[in-house]
Amino acid sequence: MKIDLHSHTKCSDGELSPEELVLRASNKGVDVLAITDHDTVSALEPARDAIIKHKLPLKLVAGVEISTRWHGFEIHVVGLNIDDKQPELVALLTQQQNTRDKRAEKIAVKLARVLPESYGFTAETIMQKVLEKAQGQSISRVHFAKTLLEAGIVDRMQQAFDKYLGRKGKAYAAPEWISVEQAIAAIKAAGGHAVLAHPTRYDLKNKWVRKLVDYFAEHQGDAIEVGLPRQNNNELIQLATYAQQAKLKSSQGSDFHRVSSYTELGSLLPLPEFCEPIWTDWQLVNPA
Ligand code: AMP
Ligand code: MN
Ligand code: MN
Ligand code: MN
Repeated sequence: MKIDLHSHTKCSDGELSPEELVLRASNKGVDVLAITDHDTVSALEPARDAIIKHKLPLKLVAGVEISTRWHGFEIHVVGLNIDDKQPELVALLTQQQNTRDKRAEKIAVKLARVLPESYGFTAETIMQKVLEKAQGQSISRVHFAKTLLEAGIVDRMQQAFDKYLGRKGKAYAAPEWISVEQAIAAIKAAGGHAVLAHPTRYDLKNKWVRKLVDYFAEHQGDAIEVGLPRQNNNELIQLATYAQQAKLKSSQGSDFHRVSSYTELGSLLPLPEFCEPIWTDWQLVNPA
């Protein structure tokens, strides 16, 4: 069975619509897919409708990827099998969207200050481009990165993060995300499982990755992501071992954002035998 518990749509920083995403997942042989957009659940309803409309043999897991702050780092907490209509969770996600809006204004002001004048950007014109790209949905740094790319200011998305938008970038604005434990509590109160996303992809030293995993376990987190995109076997075993040591379950996901040669829906290494998959006691019956 092909299980992918981390993916994005245009409702946050992905490029496919919810309908296009479920069609592609099904086409790639995925049996179970979680949509986990950044701080929003708005893709879930259209995705459910599309599965019914196209009679897809795909089980959709209601998910979300919540941005949090921990020791100055931005850490992502995935919620799986959440009740996406639970009022407290909905309120918390609205608050996170406000944080995104406020951060976007700050980034735009900083960018206007640091970009060479010859590009003719002001905070207002940058915001205009970003809002066009976000199309009324969740505003992401990816929308800023695309704006910089289109203007020829950077050659690659990664360069936009390294030079301007990342933690060490010239236009970085520290957002007021909620804490890791607030995210875990909100996910669990909405009936879901809390999963620490891609622990080895935060640019943290190994010692800090372990601290983060232990912290996550101490605060009632359920699992960590062990199966990640573009992964070698060493990283897989390392993460599986961290999960085992902290008595946490294991999750896996492609973190699919767009069609590219780097990632594909459902494309993951199998979890090591000694892992306890997060889905072992889930109902995985296909609806169609
Ligand atoms: P945001 O959620 O607005 O803070 O934007 C973060 C998103 O940018 C991540 O979820 C990734 O999809 C994307 N991204 C791409 N490259 C980087 C990078 N070097 N650092 C952080 N985020 C990146
Ligand atoms: Mn993303
Ligand atoms: Mn993430
Ligand atoms: Mn993600």
